[in-house]
Amino acid sequence: MRTVVGKVVSNKMQKSILVGVTRYFMHKKYPKRVNKQRKFMAHDEENACNIGDIVRIDSSRPISKLKAWRLTEILRREPQHRLEASGAIDLQVIAVWLEKSFPCLALLFIIFLREHWLGLTVFGCLTFNLRAANHVLREQVKLKERRDNTRLWTIAMCYGIQVPAMITTVRAISSQELWPRFILWMPASVPTVWHATVLAIATDALARVMGCAFKAAVLAVHRATPDDAFRRRSSLLTFMEHLLLCYRMMLTTPIWVRYFLYMPGHLTPVSLAGMYVAFKVHMVYRQIGMIFAAAKVASRSEALFGKYASSDEVMEVGNSCAICQESMEQPVKLSCNHIFCNSCILEWFERECTCPMCRAVIKPKGLTSHSDGSTALLPQIF
Ligand SMILES: [Zn+2]
Ligand SMILES: [Zn+2]
Repeated sequence: MRTVVGKVVSNKMQKSILVGVTRYFMHKKYPKRVNKQRKFMAHDEENACNIGDIVRIDSSRPISKLKAWRLTEILRREPQHRLEASGAIDLQVIAVWLEKSFPCLALLFIIFLREHWLGLTVFGCLTFNLRAANHVLREQVKLKERRDNTRLWTIAMCYGIQVPAMITTVRAISSQELWPRFILWMPASVPTVWHATVLAIATDALARVMGCAFKAAVLAVHRATPDDAFRRRSSLLTFMEHLLLCYRMMLTTPIWVRYFLYMPGHLTPVSLAGMYVAFKVHMVYRQIGMIFAAAKVASRSEALFGKYASSDEVMEVGNSCAICQESMEQPVKLSCNHIFCNSCILEWFERECTCPMCRAVIKPKGLTSHSDGSTALLPQIF
């Protein structure tokens, strides 16, 4: 019996592998190393080999026309297959598992839809509408003075009416009152985590639509002198979005507190609710900080980028703005020590994020800007 050790070069065939054996020898005429590969077809009863494995094969009686070898041992696995064999999660296994349990999962999903279809419909419709409204608002904000007030008023009216209409419809269908959610009243009962989630996202969607209608109305009403009209407006929009974010954070709190308190046991519900409220208070506290920052920027008592420069600082660099080439108006000193007019630099930072003089990256003071007029599309769940 002959024994050969080689590397598997093909495992495509059923129960057969192709084992390559490379031999090195010196060339007969020239002093150089030559390699030559011979291939053996061997029988692999369990299709156990992968390409790259080092295997030992033994000669045997002819198994088929081309096969006269038999796999006896896999000496070394190719690294990637070793990992698979060692129990790492295989995507294929997950896919098979999903396929097998698909009917059950589908059934669960249908039950979920049947129980929560109303809340999910409210959430879906409002999110869809909000997307369309965001598009219009962004467009109108970009148009600046040439904005179309009729369109803005239409949005404000339609979306303003949508909220009470939805609340009335929900009451008519499921006799569930939604309006107490808006004054942060605790719901009567929230039996499951799914109820709480669906209630939270539906209420949150209503709040966002309300905010959007309010923004459209403010945009339509807001009039300012042409030179800084849109500048003021963008800081106003940022302020309103932060205010809305804070309200939305508080909006979902009573729902989850109610859910935690509903859980069985003596100690866990109270401690869980306590932890949740502590976490929420921290979040709202930070958000209130943001609101104050946005208010300061909107009321012009603080610049969004850098800080207002003193007259001495302005005199030092010469009273001429590098952007507008005119005398400085409300000069602002950036962190890189360059000074520009406030309105010039705000306009600049709508497109760029670096100083126009030295290209240093300038970041606004922790305040995220929502100056495009859009409202967040992602729901607040917790
Ligand atoms: Zn300027
Ligand atoms: Zn600079």
